[in-house]
Amino acid sequence: MSIDTAKVLENLGIQSQNYGAFNGEWFGSGEVLESISPIDGKKIATVVQATTEEYEKVYSEAEKAFKEWRMVPGPKRGEIVRQIGEGLRAHKDDLGALVTLEMGKIWAEGKGEVQEMIDIADFAVGLSRQMYGRTMHSERPLHRMYEQWHPLGVIGIISAFNFPVAVWSWNAMIAAVCGDTMIWKPSPKTPLTAIACQKIAAKVFVDNGLSPAVMSLVIGETETVGEKMIHDKRLPLISATGSTRMGKRVGEVVGGRLGRTILELGGNNAIIVSNNSDMKMVTRAILFGAVGTAGQRCTSTRRVFIHEDIYDELKEKLVSAYQQVSIGNPLDEGTLMGPLIDNLAVQSMQDAITEAKSQGGTVLCGGEVLQEDFPCGNYVKPCIIEMPNQSQIVQDETFAPILYLLKFNNIEEALHSHNAVPQGLSSAMFTTNVLEAETFLSHMGSDCGIANINIGTSGAEIGGAFGGEKETGGGREAGSDSWKAYMRRQTNTINWSKELPLAQGIKFGD
Ligand code: NAD
Repeated sequence: MSIDTAKVLENLGIQSQNYGAFNGEWFGSGEVLESISPIDGKKIATVVQATTEEYEKVYSEAEKAFKEWRMVPGPKRGEIVRQIGEGLRAHKDDLGALVTLEMGKIWAEGKGEVQEMIDIADFAVGLSRQMYGRTMHSERPLHRMYEQWHPLGVIGIISAFNFPVAVWSWNAMIAAVCGDTMIWKPSPKTPLTAIACQKIAAKVFVDNGLSPAVMSLVIGETETVGEKMIHDKRLPLISATGSTRMGKRVGEVVGGRLGRTILELGGNNAIIVSNNSDMKMVTRAILFGAVGTAGQRCTSTRRVFIHEDIYDELKEKLVSAYQQVSIGNPLDEGTLMGPLIDNLAVQSMQDAITEAKSQGGTVLCGGEVLQEDFPCGNYVKPCIIEMPNQSQIVQDETFAPILYLLKFNNIEEALHSHNAVPQGLSSAMFTTNVLEAETFLSHMGSDCGIANINIGTSGAEIGGAFGGEKETGGGREAGSDSWKAYMRRQTNTINWSKELPLAQGIKFGD
């Protein structure tokens, strides 16, 4: 092992027992949650979770902080976010290592995730001077119209285990420059990374004489604290990242109180490989997309449609590339694939393989659980399955490294199958033919929120709006104009005449 775990925890302020609620102070008196490392199934540390009453304490400080924070000018809020970005830079290696310890992705990807946080902080700093509203011409003389964007209030952030810190930062950095304060409920599988981020951010607020409750935390049971949060009418926006099952529940509850949601849910991402493509690039892109993060990215490549002319050649290349994947401790240099998050994830992978076989699939390689080498039972061999058609199991998101290969002989047919799944997150086509590429990107093409040419489905940059259609939830986060979801729009009309003309020329009582 190339890192000293105790040192990493110490550097990030993680103790053997931690509190799960933060509103400027740390507290908690609920159930004790153990953070288990998927690397060896051993406990890293514990967290005393917040109760629903303690959620109230967190909320009330976050609300107070909002009254103060909204008065801080946008660019000054940007300066605070810049300093948080600096804090993340200073802790990049340690925080990246903690992501690896707690989530199991390889250290290079753990550090990459922290880099993504730094990138979005930088983006938010620039944005803090660019939250533009439009001005309009009024139809009435000596009137002026314009729109402004105001902060929303205290917002809720719910995040998934697989990007335990990046997802928070996509929301938190943007929401902060928008003037919102926030309460973050991280995944119960990755509480320590959340505590570490919280400490980095809190220090910056305190150093600047501001309330650290701008960015608050509540680690609590999903069924109690999570449900309380989504039912809480005082939270105008819930940004929730996770499974489609969770998103349907959050959408229903928050929609029922006419609150707003940003839903970032499951994907079932595909690559279409034309017979006009660079096979070396395709193989590398599929390998990274399907095996990277052990297939536990929302944008992981799960389906590949291959033109029949190159099917056998690409299949062979992929099977051979899969044999080279070094599986092992994700902290070791040279490891390409670490463990799955837990035994349940391994079981659901095994179940999906059995199901795929019963639906006519042929396993070309992988799928075995590496129980002997890794007794914790979290390590598997990535699996490729050849499918005769896009049967039910191929239409489901199995959060594991299973790749389904399907053959096609014309692009229309491939596009049709590509879109014939419930999810709509990320998609890609490999082709050097401009007609095929433009078709894929057009309104007749991919129905996903992300559509790429000659790069794979995973590894999005923060500059674009991130999210997907259909059962992926429709939300957008990170770059472009995603910030608008964290603010309320106000249209203003100012009359600087001495008359009171009505719109549409209406005469009323004059
Ligand atoms: P999950 O749905 O099990 O949990 C996600 C979060 O939702 C956790 O914090 C959980 O406690 C919370 N939650 C669940 N039910 C809730 C409820 N009723 N009220 C309040 N909170 C509730 O997901 P997971 O296993 O952690 O993550 C994997 C899933 O997330 C995959 O489906 C993946 O595709 C998806 N994901 C999507 C994106 C995206 O941007 N589209 C990004 C990352 C992960």
